[in-house]
Amino acid sequence: MKASTTDPLDIEHIRADFPILQREFDGTQLVYLDNAATSQTPEPVIDTIAEYYRTYNANVHRGLHQLSQEASIAYEEAHDRVAEFIGASGGREEIVFTKNTTESMNLVAYAWGLAELGPEDEIVTTQMEHHSSLVTWQQIGKKTGAEVKYIQIDEEGYLDMDHARELITDDTAMVSVAHVSNTLGTINPVSELADIAHDHGAYIFVDGAQSVPHQPVDVEAIDADFFAFSGHKMCGPTGIGVLYGKRELLESMQPYLYGGSMVRKVTYEETTFEELPWKFEAGTPVIGQGIALAAACDYLDEIGLERIQRHEHELAEYAYDRLTAFEDITVYGPPGNDRVGLVSFNLDSVHAHDLSSILNDHAVAIRAGDHCTQPLHDTLGTAASARASFYLYNTREEIDALIEGIDDARELFA
Ligand code: PLP
Repeated sequence: MKASTTDPLDIEHIRADFPILQREFDGTQLVYLDNAATSQTPEPVIDTIAEYYRTYNANVHRGLHQLSQEASIAYEEAHDRVAEFIGASGGREEIVFTKNTTESMNLVAYAWGLAELGPEDEIVTTQMEHHSSLVTWQQIGKKTGAEVKYIQIDEEGYLDMDHARELITDDTAMVSVAHVSNTLGTINPVSELADIAHDHGAYIFVDGAQSVPHQPVDVEAIDADFFAFSGHKMCGPTGIGVLYGKRELLESMQPYLYGGSMVRKVTYEETTFEELPWKFEAGTPVIGQGIALAAACDYLDEIGLERIQRHEHELAEYAYDRLTAFEDITVYGPPGNDRVGLVSFNLDSVHAHDLSSILNDHAVAIRAGDHCTQPLHDTLGTAASARASFYLYNTREEIDALIEGIDDARELFA
């Protein structure tokens, strides 16, 4: 019987699905708290990709032989499964498989941005964007003359919505915003931003890299024009990302990459392109990864994203409370009860990199550095921070292990 949305997760059962969590370093079991960078992969997803390579590995769309037909059907249906997972009623035609969120972002920036933007246009994004978005729009701005503007964050790490309303005007062509900040853990009001953007005739691109793995997402309820995320952060394999786009928008855009698979008719003079989404998937696509991503969607849906979200929320609150209890620790971002399952922080006496290597001696894996948000770190007044990020298999005991490691680092550097 499927658990109800309010049932707590059966963590022991879930952990048994992730063989990597059994790893030990010098007799200490791994505590994996780097999920915002890459999540671990459960057996059903590993089995799906292994089955593909064991039994029906072949190129898609072009072969008439049995293996190619099987691979083509599974690959095409994977697009439908992903569409269903994020509430895209247009099905496969609105789902382009890419390499990762970054490529999805670049696809829109190049295919839409270069064609549509000019010096009279503005792109509005935020101070908390990942480099994948910030650098991409910055460079497209340089190429097209469009000005890039940044919505400020307030002291608690929330977007300043008054500033958003000031910046988004009839000159705005694109609003590009992270659904969830990978550094602050802030959940941004993306549907409100979508309404503001649309009121001014602008499009909105939502970076869902940190939301889709952790909470139910409905791209149509948000009214996102474009939406991107990565498989490797949601129990899927590396090398697969997704771009959702409203059908009419994708239809109107020129391809980003050219070559085989994305063409219908080619002569020495002219080429006509395939229908959606294949027109955006040039060359041999990410076949095994795409099929395995659909298995990851099944896995997460089977457990239930509401339950996963609640579990991570409890962990975040617990970690926040434990970390903020120390006077020598600065935690960045909103209060513990209003954030996703990640906490970035700094310990006064220990650089984040040193802290991370001491924690590694405790078999605790966290991230240290700028988390691909250098400008945001500048705003926070620090070059680097430590980040612990949680997922469905993490426990309070693992957060206790993190705190023990921090205590140890504090003593070592005293
Ligand atoms: N956007 C956000 C908010 C992220 O956290 C990340 C990765 O950490 C990305 C984009 C880029 O994802 P990828 O490296 O899979 O392209």
